[in-house]
Amino acid sequence: MPRCPFATWKPISGSSGSHTGGPFKIVHHTTEGSTAQGAFNAFRAHRSDPHFTVDSTTIFQHIDTGVAARALRNASGGVQTNRDSAVQIEVVGFAHRPKTRATLENVRKLCRWIEATHSIPRAWPNGFPKPATASGQDPGGHNRNAAIWDSKAGHYGHSNVPENTHWDPAYTKTEVEFLMDDRGSLEGVDEYESIILEDPGLESDHSRMPDHADPEGVETESVMPMRVARKKRPAKAAAAKRKARKAAPKKAKKAKKAKKAKKAKKAKKSTRRAVARRKPATKRAAPKRKSAGKAKPRGKRGKGR
Ligand SMILES: [Zn+2]
Repeated sequence: MPRCPFATWKPISGSSGSHTGGPFKIVHHTTEGSTAQGAFNAFRAHRSDPHFTVDSTTIFQHIDTGVAARALRNASGGVQTNRDSAVQIEVVGFAHRPKTRATLENVRKLCRWIEATHSIPRAWPNGFPKPATASGQDPGGHNRNAAIWDSKAGHYGHSNVPENTHWDPAYTKTEVEFLMDDRGSLEGVDEYESIILEDPGLESDHSRMPDHADPEGVETESVMPMRVARKKRPAKAAAAKRKARKAAPKKAKKAKKAKKAKKAKKAKKSTRRAVARRKPATKRAAPKRKSAGKAKPRGKRGKGR
């Protein structure tokens, strides 16, 4: 269960399970926020941890690379994403902003360790991630080839993973070259002068990629707390809850039936009243009751579909 020796160990939600296939690859994300702490909060809320979070000062590790992380969407059917031996890095920052040299230096160092640990080549099988447009928007047209993802080791942007729609990390060509440069130190190397040293606008910026930190395969946040609670409940309490749940449908059904009957009674009354107000014709009321009786089973049948 590999842990990076120069990373700060910081577990949050834990692994999504064992890897179900290979080969190993590195997936690059941006956190779509300006701080590591903000990212941790989002991972906790959505249960969407990567293996690593990297900013300009620190490399955090949340999950052993020998098991799967949770930062990718995985649709039912199709290929595996998180569990297809994807070692995931969240880079603190935004897809639409340039990344600082200090942050990229940490990502570069981490990539060399992951590559060495899991025999990953410094290649991008689905192509380099596409940088943002000049106005900072999704450039579109990302290559998310599932067959390549499933069969080729290497580096992938979140933008190059099948079943996913996000366009991070949107590295520029120079940023990719910097990350892939395997010279030990790049100090004094001036081919990377265009990479920014600081980004004062980072803190006040906001993501242009809503719902970035989606939990795996789950659309809404509201179901998550329930999931967490179920996992943490001790066995005895869980059994009691199961029993209660088993009994619940009967009770709920009964209550529902009673409510329905009450409602129907009320509706009938008000209809009768309305009819009486308008036209006290008994002729009109009679067929109505008959049709209402007929409509009932039809409605019941339709509900189960
Ligand atoms: Zn992402």
